[in-house]
Amino acid sequence: MSQLNDNIARAQDYMKRFREQGVLNHINGESVPADSGKTFETISPVDLAPLADVAHGGASDIDRAVKAAEKAFKTWSKTPGKERREILIKVAEAIEARAEEIAFTECMDTGQSLRFMSKAAVRGAANFRFFADRAPQAEDGLSLRNDTQMNVTSKRPLGPIGVITPWNTPFMLSTWKIAPALASGCTVVHKPAEFSPMTAKLLVEIAEEAGLPKGVLNLVNGMGEDAGKALTEHPGIKAVAFVGESRTGQLIMAQAAPTLKRFHFELGGKNPVIVFDDADIERAVNAATFMIYSLNGERCTSSSRLLVQESIYEEVTRRVAEVANGVKVGHPLDPDTVVGPLIHPEHEEKVLSYFDKAREEGATIAAGGEKAGDEGCFVRPTLFTNATNDMTVAQEEIFGPVLTAISFKDEEEALRLANDTQYGLAAYLWTNDLDRAMRLTDELEAGMIWVNSENVRHLESPFGGVKSSGIGRDGGDWSFDFYMETVNVSFPRKAHKVPKLG
Ligand code: NAD
Repeated sequence: MSQLNDNIARAQDYMKRFREQGVLNHINGESVPADSGKTFETISPVDLAPLADVAHGGASDIDRAVKAAEKAFKTWSKTPGKERREILIKVAEAIEARAEEIAFTECMDTGQSLRFMSKAAVRGAANFRFFADRAPQAEDGLSLRNDTQMNVTSKRPLGPIGVITPWNTPFMLSTWKIAPALASGCTVVHKPAEFSPMTAKLLVEIAEEAGLPKGVLNLVNGMGEDAGKALTEHPGIKAVAFVGESRTGQLIMAQAAPTLKRFHFELGGKNPVIVFDDADIERAVNAATFMIYSLNGERCTSSSRLLVQESIYEEVTRRVAEVANGVKVGHPLDPDTVVGPLIHPEHEEKVLSYFDKAREEGATIAAGGEKAGDEGCFVRPTLFTNATNDMTVAQEEIFGPVLTAISFKDEEEALRLANDTQYGLAAYLWTNDLDRAMRLTDELEAGMIWVNSENVRHLESPFGGVKSSGIGRDGGDWSFDFYMETVNVSFPRKAHKVPKLG
């Protein structure tokens, strides 16, 4: 049996239970169908075959989940940080123990290739460990003194949190939000994306088997416009941690306005990778192609706009095209596959529409630009050259393995093009001129800038965007700032003169 066939057989075994029982909601420690009894289908982007029926939750399911989260909050928020730490470390260990199941299920549900998803569980477990270790100190604050008063700050968990996640790398992203919320002492109602709901169910089961009390983490599947909307509107939810498209962020803000919630938004991007002629070209090409063709290009920090100094434009784009033409497009469970199928036919159609758009607007298709094969949502890694920054393919987030290359003359033009976008999530700068790096990193409109590097995550550092790419930061202590409220208590240091009226 080939490795691929063996992997497919193992994936089928892992997913058999979902085929037979469906992907249920998980409320107050119980696997339950939607109150309405309705379901929707999740399909595999490999061949569009149905994988499972998923509970189609709505407002009443959300209401039960929020009530469970409110009840559990009373004890979880008072559980000492050290105990929360121990439980969350056990969750991390349990995730690692089921790494293959998580990876194979994620590959089949999302189309992401095993080469990258084999690390999904490791990354998810790392998120749990990292935030677990900070739980014991989470409520610590400052002592701020003046002549008369001693102010003591401390932090308290906010309450039940609504976590809404997208479909691209669901397991890793869910843990990135849920782990710090739980470490802070908050409880969670999670609404995963309808296109890839399976590993969210694995996560809540794994967490409870590892000792997370019932009701601390609840799961309601459904569509954005019903389950998602109800979650953001529910008065019991104190904050919404959302990862998804910018326009969905706008909707959520409006939906949640009457109940005055706190938001953390991680939204779209059209991230520039700027390559100057003094850069190490080989490293820059490797990093740029990794950041657009890994994870199917369905990645918020993908380097989707390649800005290259004109003297090296031909060489850089030729090398990028070689990489694009050389990477294997195939079954996500094939260990050699780099680019798997896009998540869903609807998304595939959107990505393919940009190929026509690029041609219409006068860009050259230097690699790819077409569907791969007849079955499933496979698209060839694509490079557009001779593009200008006003083209649709340079302005809109395509969210696929599609790179738009634009040339620039000098530093001034590079900066202008880089910032000429509604987005501001990440920017990548390639230069060996330290002064230039200093100047540009001061001026680039992005929440995260990597110099001479691809996206290398450091869990301590802040993550988030500016402009239409998001509101707020998480990562490190920024996550605790979001999930906790700072309270100030003021004590008199001596009997000061209290104002007396009348
Ligand atoms: P999406 O906005 O369509 O959906 C995300 C989630 O929001 C889903 O669970 C969906 O059901 C829910 N939703 C939709 N409408 C809603 C509503 N009215 N109220 C409440 N919830 C609602 O995004 P997507 O297509 O699943 O994911 C792709 C997008 O996510 C891209 O724009 C990508 O850049 C972004 N993303 C950003 C980051 C980041 O860190 N900045 C990371 C990953 C993905």
